[in-house]
Formats: sequence, structure tokens, C-alpha cells
Amino acid sequence: MARVTARSEELFQEALRRFPGGVNSPVRAFKAVGGDPFIVARGEGPYLFDVDGNRYVDYIMSWGPLVLGHAHPKVVAAVTRQLQLGTSYGAPAEPELELARIIQEAMPNLEKIRFVSSGTEAGMSVLRLARAFTGRTKIIKFHGCYHGHADALLVKAGSGVLTLGLPDSPGVPADVAGNTLTAHYNDLDSVARLFEENRGQIAAVIVEPVPGNAGLLTPRAGFLEGLREISDQEGALLIFDEVMTGFRVHPGGAQTLYQVRPDLTMLAKVIGGGLPVGAFGGRKDIMSMIAPEGPVYQAGTLSGNPLAMAGGIATVSGWLEGDTFARAERIAKRIAEEFRELSLELGIPLQAASVGTMFGFFFNDAPVVTFADAQRSDLARFRTFFSRCLDRGVYFAPSQFEAGFVSITHEGEALEHTLRVMKDVLHEMSQE
Ligand code: PMP
Repeated sequence: MARVTARSEELFQEALRRFPGGVNSPVRAFKAVGGDPFIVARGEGPYLFDVDGNRYVDYIMSWGPLVLGHAHPKVVAAVTRQLQLGTSYGAPAEPELELARIIQEAMPNLEKIRFVSSGTEAGMSVLRLARAFTGRTKIIKFHGCYHGHADALLVKAGSGVLTLGLPDSPGVPADVAGNTLTAHYNDLDSVARLFEENRGQIAAVIVEPVPGNAGLLTPRAGFLEGLREISDQEGALLIFDEVMTGFRVHPGGAQTLYQVRPDLTMLAKVIGGGLPVGAFGGRKDIMSMIAPEGPVYQAGTLSGNPLAMAGGIATVSGWLEGDTFARAERIAKRIAEEFRELSLELGIPLQAASVGTMFGFFFNDAPVVTFADAQRSDLARFRTFFSRCLDRGVYFAPSQFEAGFVSITHEGEALEHTLRVMKDVLHEMSQE
């Protein structure tokens, strides 16, 4: 069932001449699955349409942000209205307050907040702040977690770094990487050991509370609570990177779902509704160290950009309305269930889970609890599954090590089509 891809191929050839690897972010390439990415013409609700006119049910949703679907009329109207009032002021404006109110009501641990323009920026800024506050240099991160591409965080990183098999990036100075210690997610002993070996030197533990950049992992009972406890005992800060999980795993993020209070939180993605945005926030005493209230410098020409704020306000307020979140959560759950049922029925080793409106699946015969478990997945099987779904109009992330994202618009025909395609493809695979 070959798709027509002539125009996409032609444009991608040009893209290869103009951009490294043909893309402007590595996860968009099809390196792990083979073939070339299609070139998008437009998005509408749960669908992407490419330049050859093919339609795909999209489970990437801009890698998380688009909880209301592509081009939701309310988001389009809000951004258009703001566009007419100006695109950027470089001076305080009310939309910043409006989005902050919505976020702080949903996530009261963010006593003070600073808007930035990406998750990466949020990551580099929280590290600087944590180091300044504690007067310490080292940090602990986890194998397979991704927190953006700041030097200190590109150590054993997930997402594209992992997909491309680049455990550490050239260009990161050894003395910077040397201050980043890595532990194993869901393994508190590995964290305790690092604290023991580096007593009084660790500024912060940074974690994706529900990692989505090594595929989807879920926290063992007591793991996040354990991180809170050990950080308190050792005088280190606990940073939750909720760039992916914020408003996705629960309307109040993983910190509300699991009732664990981080000192600092990173956000991005959903809070911009598909426009460039990021934020970090947390305890007032820590956040007050940020300039101009305190001495820790952090700034941005486009920070709190009014277009991004308008997109975020419309998206998050629509998402928190009525039973929208609960309905979207059921879609993610249904997909994970279908994977598990088909696995049992067809004898294909598959592990699948959902947390809120994120889902994940691994071609793996054993439960995936740690990052090492995830790495033992059958990548050849994943490739086959991915490509055949794509040919039938269902677009999962082009890597075994990425999560899936649904929107409220996936209800109905888009979901039904997905379940049919999953079944057909896995059926075929079981007979080969
Ligand atoms: N943290 C997490 C958990 C992420 O998933 C990402 C991006 N996928 C980032 C940080 C970096 O965000 P950005 O791409 O906006 O810089």
C-alpha cells in the first residue's frame, strides 16, 4: 500500500542540501526507522497532511504541545487577535499574567515563575539557579532523561541523542560534563551512592518524573518520594522537568499526580499550545534569586512573548474545561490497552502503558521499568511496525525511544482508524 511521496522526496532532497541532515531538529529525521520524513503541508485536529496529499493520524502532536489538536479554532482566534495587537513588546504585558495565573493555579508549587522561549532554556536556567542557591556545582541526572541541549545536560541524554546512539555529545567540555553525575531511573540506590561519593557537592537532582524521552517509563512506587527525601537530607534541590508531563499526565502535572513537591519545575510544550515557549518556577526563596530581584542573570528578548502567551492561554484553558482531560486520557489508555490485548492475542512481545494523555509501547518480552530494560527492545520490529503504520496513515514517533501524545481531537474516527491499523499491522507481523 505504497503512498505517493514524490513531492516530499523532492523537497527533502533540497532540505538535505540546506539543513544538516535535512531537518531543523534531529528527532524529525527518520534515521532510526529508515526512509525520509514526509514534508508537512498542514495540520487539522488529529491529522497531518503532507505535500503529496497523504493524511496521517498524528501521535507526535509537535512532540507534546497540541493537546487541543492542530489548528484548534480557539487557539487560532486567540493568536490572530494578539497578532493584530503586536507580536512582541520587550515590555511587560497582561497576557504574561494571565498565563501565569492559570499555571500557578494548576501547579501551586510554582510560587514564582519566569517565562522563557524553550524547554532547553528552562533547563539551563534552573541549573544556574540551583547552583547559585546551594553554592554547589555538581548535579545528578538520569540515564535516558532529556532536559534540552544545554552542555551540562547532554550527558547520557534521551530523545534524539539516544535515538542516534550518541551517549554524549562532542563539543561539551569535559570539565562541564564532569559535573553531571548520572544515576539510574527507578533505582534509588544509584542516587544514594552518588550522594555518598560526593557529599556536600551536589546542587540538584533533575528528573523527568515520568520519562518520555526513553520511550515512556513510569515511576516505581516510592521512587519520586525517595528522591524528595534524599535531596532534603543532603541539602540538594529537587528539580522536576515537566516540559513533557506538565498538563499531560495530570492537569497539575506529575507533581500533583504523585503528590511530590519539587523545589523547581521546568515547563514548556503545552503551556505554549504550539508556539515557542518555556518556563521555570518554584519556591519563592529560590526564584527570588533571579535577576532583577536577585543576582542570578537570566534574560530573553522574546521571553513571555505575547503570541506564545495567547496560544498558551487558549490551549490550557480549553484543556482544563469540563471533562476534556479525562476524555483525552481515555484515548491514550485505549491505545495502550489495544497494544497489550493484541500482544496477548498474537503472541508478539509488547509492553505498553499510558500515564494521563501520554502513552508508550516497547517491542519487548519483559516489563520495561528501567532505561536498561527499554534498551533491550527489538528495534527491527519497531521499524517494521512504524513504517507499515505510516503507509496506512498512522504516524507514531519515528523512534522506539519516544512517547506517544494524544489530543482531544483523536476521539472518534481518528482513534478507530488507528486501532484498525495497529491490528492489521501486528497481525501481519505475527504471521511472518
Ligand atoms: N525537557 C524535556 C522533558 C523534553 O521532552 C524536552 C523536549 N523534548 C526538553 C526538555 C527541551 O525542550 P525544547 O525542545 O523546547 O528546548
